[in-house]
Amino acid sequence: MTHSSPGDAQDNSSQLALPIPQTHPLPTTLEQWQNPTGADDYFSEIKPTPAGYLIWSEFPVKVYVERPTEPAEASASARQFHNWVDDVLTAVEDWSLYLPLQLVTQAQDADISIWRSSPPIKPVFNRETGRFDLPRARSAEASYKFYLREVLDIDNPILSHRFTILLSPEHIIKQTTASARHELGHALGIWGHSPLETDALYFSKVRNPPPISARDINTLKRIYQQPTRLGWPLVSN
Ligand SMILES: [Zn+2]
Repeated sequence: MTHSSPGDAQDNSSQLALPIPQTHPLPTTLEQWQNPTGADDYFSEIKPTPAGYLIWSEFPVKVYVERPTEPAEASASARQFHNWVDDVLTAVEDWSLYLPLQLVTQAQDADISIWRSSPPIKPVFNRETGRFDLPRARSAEASYKFYLREVLDIDNPILSHRFTILLSPEHIIKQTTASARHELGHALGIWGHSPLETDALYFSKVRNPPPISARDINTLKRIYQQPTRLGWPLVSN
């Protein structure tokens, strides 16, 4: 039997801790935002993640939108796909007024990827019945993952995130753009919902979806003024 005491261990690996939360400079687009109507915000509904608020700090944020391989004239389903893309691009343009976004042609280069695919139905365990419930199908879903990004002139990797948006292939006039607008709002940092149906980040679908509201942007701006661990290098112990 061998024993090792802490003093015996020759540990050459250095330990890295999560970055300390700090604020990033406010993007000019948000800095210049004037609240025209004196509207308030719903910042209190926004939840920070274990890494802090989901703030982008390198602009433009790169967005990939899945594209059809066939021209619109090829078939009815190709045309549907093209319409879907057009509607998603409208939502990307809507947000570009408030945060610099850039379309990229390869998903692997993107910070936010938008796929024409229905979100999977995830069974939820019901403690009372001891069975799994199947929730109703949703038309859209946004999810994020953290990763470490190596940067040449910085010793420690940077805590970063990526977003994936799944958006139903169904093309419904106004609703596809509204869904894309809503999910993009989540991906740009609004990780929560508004209680008012006049905001793009209202928690439910509405018959006549609103454009991005002053309250949406007030909320976004307050989020970007918060400290976050994202976009900062890990700390050596
Ligand atoms: Zn939502």
